[in-house]
Amino acid sequence: MPRLLDPVEISIGGLRKSFGPLVILEDLSLHIPGGDICCLLGPSGCGKTTLLRLIAGLEKVDRGTIRIGGVEVTHLAPHHRELGMVFQNYALFPHMTVAENVAFGLRLRKVPPPERQARVASAMTMVKLDKMGDRLPSQLSGGQRQRVALARSLITQPKVLLLDEPLSALDKKLRGQMQVEIKDLQRNVGVTTVVVTHDQEEALAIADRIVVMDGGRILQIGRPREVYDKPGSPFVADFIGASNTIEAKVMARAREMATVSSPLGILKVPAPHGASIGSDCLLSIRPENINILSGAGAETARWRGQVRHIVYKGNLTEYVVALDNGVELKAVRPNRAAEDQQEIALEQNVSLSWSDHSVILHAQGPTPDIGLRG
Ligand code: ATP
Repeated sequence: MPRLLDPVEISIGGLRKSFGPLVILEDLSLHIPGGDICCLLGPSGCGKTTLLRLIAGLEKVDRGTIRIGGVEVTHLAPHHRELGMVFQNYALFPHMTVAENVAFGLRLRKVPPPERQARVASAMTMVKLDKMGDRLPSQLSGGQRQRVALARSLITQPKVLLLDEPLSALDKKLRGQMQVEIKDLQRNVGVTTVVVTHDQEEALAIADRIVVMDGGRILQIGRPREVYDKPGSPFVADFIGASNTIEAKVMARAREMATVSSPLGILKVPAPHGASIGSDCLLSIRPENINILSGAGAETARWRGQVRHIVYKGNLTEYVVALDNGVELKAVRPNRAAEDQQEIALEQNVSLSWSDHSVILHAQGPTPDIGLRG
């Protein structure tokens, strides 16, 4: 499968979509650079699939524009947009063999048989299904069916690949493998790709850019690391990864740091613009940034408490600790075979600590500019 030399960008401006009285998307703007893999991530019902279907031309927009490679496609029929689509249930033709399924788009375009066969063979190799051309979809595993669907959509060399929850029917381990494969495949082909998912791990694993949505709005756009390390709101902090959220008030500011008063006491934390003195704010602390200690030192530490819940997860353990002042915090500790790792039991007294620099302060008030042009 040849690499696209000139991947196309997608630009969406002022998009509105309603179903009857229900407004699903309101004034949504988004720019996806050519060749990127962009994940639309958000809770159920936030409008991800609706946005994907609008890009595909499967729904009509109320207002706004959609451009692919600089060409306006807002009112073009789906088959004129040069897209490839893969759905959650793969939508393979059950009575056709794998090779016939993959060849389908070329047949429609009346590509002559010799070229068709060569392109099918190349696409099958690309998705590692070389010897499976004669099988029916029912004779394949879930992961293999997903690969057939990918090959079928890529064989026509679309400008844009749209994937709607492509891996949700697969088990966790296979999903992990397919994430790597999709990312490799996409990088090799270079096609601009939009993926709908509600699985934050999937978005972190495959996206160049994550678009976090809620209630028909875009809350934040950024590279996976940016969105994870610098969530723009408590919602994003909690939706991607986990977070302890604490109410606080800004007491003083100096350069990029703020002194805040909170149920955890007075803290000095990095502060964004807009966190003005006297204003209320919310603090996020990721559980993995909280150290939990038992034994010597636990009595003299600043934050002390008692373990209320323990959830063992194999590679790590989650602890919910009730501090002496009543605040409950979640901490996570990797499980190591090291002999010096102390056991922590239910109801044990422990100490907690964290670096002030790991605390994220969210100013309350108007939503900050999140750079909709990515
Ligand atoms: P999920 O992850 O559950 O698929 P989503 O973020 O993809 O959710 P959408 O499928 O875009 O959400 O749906 C957004 C909202 O639009 C939902 O409230 C849904 O019920 C509504 N909706 C979607 N399609 C239609 C339709 N054809 N007619 C009426 N309402 C619709």
